[in-house]
Amino acid sequence: MPSLAPEQFQQAVLDWFDRHGRKDLPWQADKSAYSTWLSEIMLQQTQVATVIPYYQRFKERFPNIHALAQADLDEVLHLWTGLGYYARARNLHKTARIISEQQDGRFPETVEALAELPGIGRSTAGAILSISTGKPAAILDGNVKRVLARFYAVRGWSGQTAVLKQLWEHAERNTPDARAGDYTQAMMDLGATLCTRSKPSCLLCPLQQECKAFSEGLTDQLPEPRPKKTLPVKQTWMLIIRDREGSVMLSQRPPSGIWGGLWSLPEVQDLRDAQSELGIEISDASVMPPVRHTFSHYHLDITPALVELKDPINFVMEGPPTLWYNTRQPQNVGLAAPVKRLLEQLNSPEGGQS
Ligand code: SF4
Repeated sequence: MPSLAPEQFQQAVLDWFDRHGRKDLPWQADKSAYSTWLSEIMLQQTQVATVIPYYQRFKERFPNIHALAQADLDEVLHLWTGLGYYARARNLHKTARIISEQQDGRFPETVEALAELPGIGRSTAGAILSISTGKPAAILDGNVKRVLARFYAVRGWSGQTAVLKQLWEHAERNTPDARAGDYTQAMMDLGATLCTRSKPSCLLCPLQQECKAFSEGLTDQLPEPRPKKTLPVKQTWMLIIRDREGSVMLSQRPPSGIWGGLWSLPEVQDLRDAQSELGIEISDASVMPPVRHTFSHYHLDITPALVELKDPINFVMEGPPTLWYNTRQPQNVGLAAPVKRLLEQLNSPEGGQS
């Protein structure tokens, strides 16, 4: 165990933060629970530079929790399009409704109560609480896990319970009573700017003298990654059905699961099953190059096909709600990421838009 006592660890991190930490991020201008929560949810698995414009658009459209709670989920998903991990947007909307309708717009003030809300885990709860109220609450997001795993040379993948427990113990022990919000921000910054995934800037790091990974030459081995497993591959066809004006038919995904609540292209496992699965008869199909979309647990190989229907006039598709999407004047609806790219492609000069 390194010899740095928690007070020394905190002091080193806070001194560094005072001199080098980021203090001009858009959500740092308003440290309310609402803004902190919004930014923390967006920052999960997403880089700061990507999040900034999304955060600004959200704050402009939904300046407070009541505005977000009153919005249609479709609009929230639309503003989220491109950020990925859409369950975050659905949970954001659910939590906004709970807080607006049941708690008079006020966020709970304990980690336990915050962590009961949809989409808020223990680390996010700690970040919201420490940044918005200054109360001491530990965080352990990806950046902090990396710093602590290296500093204490914690072996094993953080998805394993015993490893996670050790990291939480380090995180809890080092969280200060005073300036907890700054400390939270400092640890996130340290992980994002110095203790980076590859080539960490150890020579600039305030923890370098006592860092075990640095002194033992283990920075490229820690934290240990998730044990490798080969992702399975699934296949699907996405049908591009256009009306006379060139609008494309979209169907809405079920509310939960992959791309839950988003609008997507109608899918079939096999083109020959279009009639039995969707009730449509295809007279001709022009197959586009396949695209791969990777989820955390599988690859999805999508083959898009521009299809002509036998009876376009009397055509009604069976199944989920549908809409005609004008690619030149896109509606405010949330789109699955590969579908958004395909629709943009259709609109490009070589995309076949007649
Ligand atoms: S010395 Fe290097 S590895 Fe250790 S915490 Fe600092 S940046 Fe990370």
